[in-house]
Order: sequence, then C-alpha cells, then structure tokens
Amino acid sequence: PRCYGSAPPELQEKTLVLVKPDAVQRRLVGNVIQRFERRGFKLVAMKLLQADQGLLDKHYQQLRQKPFYPALLAYMTSGPLVAMVWEGYNVVRSTRAMVGDTDSAAAAAGTIRGDFSMHVSRNVVHASDSVETAQREIGFWFQRDELVAWESGDRDYTYGP
Ligand code: GDP
Ligand code: MG
Repeated sequence: PRCYGSAPPELQEKTLVLVKPDAVQRRLVGNVIQRFERRGFKLVAMKLLQADQGLLDKHYQQLRQKPFYPALLAYMTSGPLVAMVWEGYNVVRSTRAMVGDTDSAAAAAGTIRGDFSMHVSRNVVHASDSVETAQREIGFWFQRDELVAWESGDRDYTYGP
C-alpha cells in the first residue's frame, strides 16, 4: 500500500465544481458526480450549502459589474448547491471540457451543459477556469481541513506507470 503524498504533483491538481441550485432542484447531483467519478477523478471534498451574497461576491468578483450580476446572484442564492473539489491529472482542463460552453446552446452534446441545460442563466454547474483560479476558489468555499487526503488504489490502472 502507498502512503498519501506519494502521488506526483501533476496528479494532485485540484478544481472546484459547483452543482448549482437548479441542478439540486432537478435532482441532477448524482448524475454530475457520476461523470467525474467514472472519468477517474478523485473526490477530495464535498458539501451541500446555501451560499450567501458575501461568498458569491468573492467567487464571481470578475462579474460584479456585469448587467446580469443581480440575476446571477438571485439564481445562485435561490436554494442549496453542492460544492466539490476534484483532483487528478489536468483536472481543470478536463473538467471544463466535460462541463461545456457557458452558452448552453453552444455546449456540445455529451457535455453536462449540452445534456442538461437550455440557457446561460440556468447552466447547472460551475468549474474553475484555470489552476490559479481553482486554488483561489477552493479557498473561498472550503476550509483547509475540509479537504481529505486519500490515496486511490487504482492509480496504476488510471494513469499507467
Ligand atoms: P462559466 O465559467 O462557463 O461558468 O462562465 P462565466 O465565468 O463567463 O460566467 C459565470 C456564470 O455567470 C455562468 O456560468 C452563468 O451562470 C452566468 N452568466 C454568464 N453570462 C450570463 C448572461 O449573459 N446572463 C445570465 N443571466 N447569466 C450569465
Ligand atoms: Mg467562469
């Protein structure tokens, strides 16, 4: 058996995924989790919570001046959401590809948004857009001790030698 910490750094890249309130209402949480699990990514943190404006102002600081920001805030505080941290090789880039285009009509079939979303204002999931953004966003949503370090036993089969 391996001790945690033996995984090379490139396998420890992390990203923040939010299953947004529309997806919780529509009972899509399990489906979203399943997609990342079956790809082989490792779940290292997860919680259901009601987000407040202070948290969302930080999370969406780049969008606060946009005309749609009040609508985005109302949407994101309309009910509970699920926040998760996923870990693995190129997880940020792969996750963005799995989530699909911001504009639901442009999102490819087979992506989460392409399969479950009709409109940009109800687009089911969030995923961090870069490794740096991910580190910052994980810090907004999780305490350091809420991330669970564990070693996955199938690593040789997921990544090769
Ligand atoms: P993402 O990284 O693909 O989620 O897209 P952005 O970072 O550009 O925008 C963040 C979120 O703001 C999107 O996922 C949408 O929920 C919301 N959003 C973006 N553009 C619009 C818009 O034109 N109208 C509304 N109502 N929401 C938007
Ligand atoms: Mg974004």
